[in-house]
Amino acid sequence: MRISFHGADQGVTGSCHLIECAGKRLLIDCGLYQGSRELEEENAEPFGFDPAEIDLLLLSHAHLDHCGRIPLLARRGFRGEIVTTAASRELARLVMLDAAHLQEEEAEYKQRKASRHGNHRPRIQPLYTTLDALNSLDFFGRVARYGEPLQLAPGIRATFVDAGHILGSASILLELEEGGQRRRVLFSGDLGNAGRPILRNPAPPPTADVVVMETTYGDRRHKQLAPSIEELYEAINDTFRRGGNVIIPTFALERSQEILFHLREGLEAGRLPRTVQVFLDSPMAISATEIFRRHPECYDAETMDLFREGRDPFALPGLRFTRQTADSMAINRIGGGAVIMAGSGMCTGGRVRHHLKHHLWRRDCSVVFVGYAANGTLARRIIDGAERVHIFGEEIPVRARIYTIGGFSAHADQAELLDWHAATGRPHTTYLVHGEERSMRAFARRIRDGRVVMPRLHQAFRL
Ligand code: ZN
Repeated sequence: MRISFHGADQGVTGSCHLIECAGKRLLIDCGLYQGSRELEEENAEPFGFDPAEIDLLLLSHAHLDHCGRIPLLARRGFRGEIVTTAASRELARLVMLDAAHLQEEEAEYKQRKASRHGNHRPRIQPLYTTLDALNSLDFFGRVARYGEPLQLAPGIRATFVDAGHILGSASILLELEEGGQRRRVLFSGDLGNAGRPILRNPAPPPTADVVVMETTYGDRRHKQLAPSIEELYEAINDTFRRGGNVIIPTFALERSQEILFHLREGLEAGRLPRTVQVFLDSPMAISATEIFRRHPECYDAETMDLFREGRDPFALPGLRFTRQTADSMAINRIGGGAVIMAGSGMCTGGRVRHHLKHHLWRRDCSVVFVGYAANGTLARRIIDGAERVHIFGEEIPVRARIYTIGGFSAHADQAELLDWHAATGRPHTTYLVHGEERSMRAFARRIRDGRVVMPRLHQAFRL
């Protein structure tokens, strides 16, 4: 029995872990590296194992940094079975197709640029294509339900446990047996932040001998959610009093639906004006919202009650979905009283850039950031107080009011991670993954029981 690590080693992206047991090879996640250019170039490197020899892939959830290399895996010979929850399966389809489209666009852009510079190298290929993403969908097989063990092969049993992170997300317990030896290996996946709306809190984990866990916020405590919601309402009301619009750059999965949920509650509680117009201007977020509606089995009790009463948790009177570009452009004719949610969350692409171009220079408008903004992104520059920014080659002065609201994280914080770890019993080994080095080290110091390991890329261990 062996475990090896092929991504998310001392970094937050590219999750990919390999288990070898009872003559089978199984992967937990196969995510994309995201962030700096050097990191993204890692995606094209060999996996560190032969994709054709992988029998099973268990997917913890549908974020790109967990499922984004699946089309590449299939393109390089993977013919095994992908097992995940019903909701993750639908979301992963959306996420992988969107990623393939972006890869194709980027390759085309680089090709045009190379040609302009008289560079006639061989054609620049995307990491993978839409066709690769479609082909990889054929490998999705059995569907996992929370808490129900699946016998995947002799000596390999898997149980998916609700991780409360995004719709369909799971921690995965493997019960392994080989040559009379037994091991319980638990992968945390990404763990959610308790007390958020829509989803349930992470389920208490089963006990395990070996734990592989994320450490995204291994060194930090989160702000409270309730004051963040208040801040959001105040930002909107204040902007409307000044006569402007509110732009909210959003991530398509989870954050958009959560903000819709809070806006609906604000309207029902009379905290927001009845006349508010809300636009969800992101085709991917619209599709994701439809998938949310199809999976009430993932909801918490409060959202389930709404659903049972026949009420839509994501519907509010002034809400409009804009899929078409023309409808998106028409939004810019509205002078005030609108909340416009558009991707991407870090303003690196997508329709939000058009809205910023039309609103950033207006003193009566606001931009409200509700998610993580990496260094080097347009969102980061605006948050850091840039007086002017470049959007589509134009210099735009930043006169709008800028809010950053920190309480909407989809990840567990240090205290929650420690509680979760303590509940796994006394694992003899804990492997820390999916965190920046500083966060990982801070977290490692807080673990009392057993051996703590921070594996390097492609490092392998006997279980
Ligand atoms: Zn995630």
